[in-house]
Amino acid sequence: MIRDTAKAVLKSLLTEKDFLNELDDKVGDGDHGLNMARGAQAAIEALDALDDGTDLAKVLQAIGEAFTTNVGGTSGRLYGAALSEAAAVVDENSDLDAATLEKIFGAVVDAIQTRGNAQAGDKTMLDVLIPIRDSFSAEVCADKSFEEILTLARDAARDGLENTKTLAAKKGRAASLGKKSVGFEDPGAASSLIIFRALCGQWKSGLRN
Ligand code: ADP
Ligand code: MG
Repeated sequence: MIRDTAKAVLKSLLTEKDFLNELDDKVGDGDHGLNMARGAQAAIEALDALDDGTDLAKVLQAIGEAFTTNVGGTSGRLYGAALSEAAAVVDENSDLDAATLEKIFGAVVDAIQTRGNAQAGDKTMLDVLIPIRDSFSAEVCADKSFEEILTLARDAARDGLENTKTLAAKKGRAASLGKKSVGFEDPGAASSLIIFRALCGQWKSGLRN
């Protein structure tokens, strides 16, 4: 059920709270794990209160609102908007296939770029989310199974996070460090990878069953 998948993914953020705080300690103010955990906890409660846990749009909307309302940091505002706008591009007939995922991650990237004005290479969450979106394009997905596509997307996301170590931050708190931010992973890119890995884990276990 969609609600259970979403809750499992949100729980991965609770588990990684300290790790994300430590990353943000190096290039920011040390609260990224706390922000994500606060949003995830509120989102889990909002999902439990939903009448219908099978409606993807409602699930995405509830998570988006929970992040927007309960998280003070930049990431809460950006992830909140991203989830709310993703909710607007799906309906009850949406299949979980590459085309739908391209739409969802397209909406996520657009929402974040509209609000944060960052580009690929600025050392933000977009350096993981853009490669994920691009992995679901029709061109890349031609002749591949869903499982192969997920593996490619997950590898692209992992490489995207790794690449943030080579970048100087141009947006967010880390931007004030400039070149001194090189050598460290971007915390928001790390949380995006955690979320996507957890999602892939849920989908793959569904595929195997
Ligand atoms: P804050 O910076 O308010 O303390 P967090 O620590 O929770 O918020 O989140 C920091 C993360 O937010 C960064 O690692 C980066 O990935 C992301 N971020 C910050 N500014 C932007 C932006 N303008 N566009 C996209 N992502 C951003
Ligand atoms: Mg922070």
